[in-house]
Amino acid sequence: SHQWQLMRRPVGVPVAEDFRYVSVELSPLADGEVRVTNEFISVDPYMRGRMNDVKSYTPPYVLGETMVGGAIGRVTESRSDALAVGDLVQHFQGWRDVAQGAAAQFRKTNEIAGVASSVFLGALGMTSLTAWVGLFVIADMQPGDTVFVSGAAGAVGSAVGQIARSRGAGRVIGSAGSDEKVAHLIDRYGFDAAFNYKMGDVAGQLATAAPDGIDVYFDNVGGDHLEAAISSFNDGGRAALCGAISSYNSSEPPVGPRNMSMLTTKGLMLKGFTIGNYLEYSPQFAAEVGPLVASGKIVYDETVVDGIDNALEAFGALMRGENLGKMVVRIGG
Ligand code: NDP
Repeated sequence: SHQWQLMRRPVGVPVAEDFRYVSVELSPLADGEVRVTNEFISVDPYMRGRMNDVKSYTPPYVLGETMVGGAIGRVTESRSDALAVGDLVQHFQGWRDVAQGAAAQFRKTNEIAGVASSVFLGALGMTSLTAWVGLFVIADMQPGDTVFVSGAAGAVGSAVGQIARSRGAGRVIGSAGSDEKVAHLIDRYGFDAAFNYKMGDVAGQLATAAPDGIDVYFDNVGGDHLEAAISSFNDGGRAALCGAISSYNSSEPPVGPRNMSMLTTKGLMLKGFTIGNYLEYSPQFAAEVGPLVASGKIVYDETVVDGIDNALEAFGALMRGENLGKMVVRIGG
C-alpha cells in the first residue's frame, strides 16, 4: 500500500520535506477484517490544522504515521460477514491507496448509478452537511435573508449559496479568489452577486454587492472577510464561523476584527461550530439535499487529481485556491 506520512510539523506553507511517501507491505487479513482499494481520498483544509502540534477538535497528526482523513473505496477481500467483496465503503484511513482493518471501521454506502463515488466526500457528504448545518442550525437562516458566504467557489461555499437559495434566501452573495470563480458563482451556482477578494478592499466590495446589508454570514475565511461582514450586517445579523482559511498557513497570529463593538450596537450573533458535533442532522440533510442534487437543482463541481502519489500536490493546490468545488484524489483511475 502506498501511503503519505507527516514527518515534521510544517511552519507556514507545508513543503515536500515535511512528508514522506512510503510503500507498506500489508499483512494478511485476520478474522473480521476487510481490505479496501480506495477510489477517492479527500484532501481538506482542516488537515493543515492537524499538521500542527496543537490541541484542537481533531488531534494532531502523529509524526511518522499515515495521515488519516475521509476516503471511499471498494472491498476487494473480506474475512467478515458484515461486508462483501464489491461493497462500496467510506472510512477514515486517509492518504493511502489500499486500506484494511476491522469491518466496523468501514461504513457501507449505497452507490448512485452513473455518479462517481467522490460525491460522498463532497456534495452528498461532510462538506455539504457542513453547509446545511451552518446555515440552518447555527445561523438560523430564514426565507428573505440576504446571505453572504466567503470561499464561495469551494466545496462548502458552493453548497452554502445553492442551499440558501433553495430555502428562499432573498439575495445570495459570494466572494472568491479569481474572476473565473466569480463568474462561475453567478453563471453556474445562481449567486445574485459576487466579487474577487484579491481585487482589493473586501469591506467596500461587500458593501457594493449588498447595498441593503446582510443578515447571514457563512465564514470560511476569517480575517478581513469577517470584519467586512460585521460592518455590513443588519441589526440581528448571524454568522456561522465555519473556518478561517486566510490564517491556516500563517505563522503569525491572525488580526481580529476591529469592529467588534458592532456586535453590541447591532445585536449580532457569531457562533462557531465543527461538523463532528452535529452529525445527528445527517438524515435531515440527506432528505432535503439528496433530491435537490439528484434532480440537478443543486449542482456541484469537483477538482480531481489523479494518483495517490499526487496527494500532497492536491493538498497544496487546495491551499493555493486552484480547486473549483471539492478537491479529491482519484486512486487508480
Ligand atoms: P474549499 O473547497 O473551499 O478549498 C479551500 C479554498 O480556500 C480554496 O479553493 C481558496 O479559494 C480558499 N483560500 C485559500 N487561501 C485563502 C485565503 N488566504 N483567503 C481566502 N480564501 C482562501 O475547502 P472546503 O470547502 O473543504 O473548506 C472551506 C472552509 O470550511 C475551510 O475554512 C474549512 O476549514 C472549513 N470547514 C469547516 C468545517 C467545520 O466543521 N467547521 C468542516 C469542513 C470545512 P479562493 O480561490 O477563493 O481563494
